[in-house]
Amino acid sequence: MPSLWDLPDFDAHEGVHFFSDPASDLRAIIAIHSTHLGPAAGGTRLWHYAEAGDAVTDALRLSRGMSFKNAMAGLPVGGGKGVILADAARTKTPAMLAAFGRAIESLGGRYVTAEDVGMGEADLVAIGRETRHVSGLPVGEGRAGGDPGPSTAMGVFLGVKAAIRQALGKDSAQGVHVAIQGVGSVGGGLARLLAGEGARLTLADVDRARAERLAAELGGATVDAAEILSAEADVVSPCALGAVLTAESIAALRTPIVAGGANNQLATPEDGDRLHARNILYAPDYVINAGGIINVTLEYLGQGDRAEVEARLRQIPGRLETIWAESAASGDTAARVADRMAMALIGRG
Ligand code: NAD
Repeated sequence: MPSLWDLPDFDAHEGVHFFSDPASDLRAIIAIHSTHLGPAAGGTRLWHYAEAGDAVTDALRLSRGMSFKNAMAGLPVGGGKGVILADAARTKTPAMLAAFGRAIESLGGRYVTAEDVGMGEADLVAIGRETRHVSGLPVGEGRAGGDPGPSTAMGVFLGVKAAIRQALGKDSAQGVHVAIQGVGSVGGGLARLLAGEGARLTLADVDRARAERLAAELGGATVDAAEILSAEADVVSPCALGAVLTAESIAALRTPIVAGGANNQLATPEDGDRLHARNILYAPDYVINAGGIINVTLEYLGQGDRAEVEARLRQIPGRLETIWAESAASGDTAARVADRMAMALIGRG
């Protein structure tokens, strides 16, 4: 393995911290990309990695992504990410979570955690017994915070509507055909919001029964997970995995709009160019999917009630419109325009 400084995903991260606690079998990484705007905020992922190097790559990429996401959301926080290297069964014990909480505490508030893949509200409660630098905890009615999924779904819904306005000239999702890849917390929430406005839905999930249940409830169709990205639709909305937009999948797209909640949708920066070359309107993922981090960051800062979260979610369409306008004016892709704006905001422009 090359040295950390030579890794392709190392981007002058302020700190990359490796933790181990043999008593609880904890092995974890906390990557702090930037604290230019405030403490580095970003969730913790618990995952079984084939190689430890893959966990380092994930921590480096995801923490940089959080710097961009938080800056573009107008939040007074930087970007960071926690990664817990789990065994194949993804074992998670109270002792391990406590040790991870102490690891966060040792950083003295430079990193604030929240939910990510493999970590739920109860895990954050356990971590919160060891450190106060934690968000995404259960909150009282009307307060900011708790499960970030519904806020992410609402932000994506507003962003999809902005894209529909931009590309199709329509003010409502009524009758607009949206194909959603992955109907979990974000994709499922998005489907409900779109159905409420009369959109036509096509849903797909590797858990086919899950897609079928939701389609039956909301009145949509389902297709095989392998077919959703090439569905003929007004909008394709990736809400499952990252790296789904590749040379091959982009060539097969039959939609004028790609706008969804998944993180890191573009497999490579060139895939943003490919979308642009096909004249497909793309909503940069970390701009449209910032609702969850807005919700939990306001919770951590003790600044918010739901009304404040919703006011900030309503700013997502305007941000996308600014990016698309700049993209049209400069000829640069929406993804590159967003990256440039984010870099300037974190003092690296
Ligand atoms: P989730 O686990 O609740 O749902 C994901 C769904 O996608 C599951 O139903 C899963 O079966 C399905 N899926 C997995 N692979 C698939 C495939 N190849 N084709 C079709 N379906 C597939 O997760 P989530 O919280 O809804 O997150 C979805 C995406 O949004 C992830 O990329 C996540 O990183 C991103 N995201 C989530 C949040 C949040 O607040 N939850 C915030 C920002 C970004």
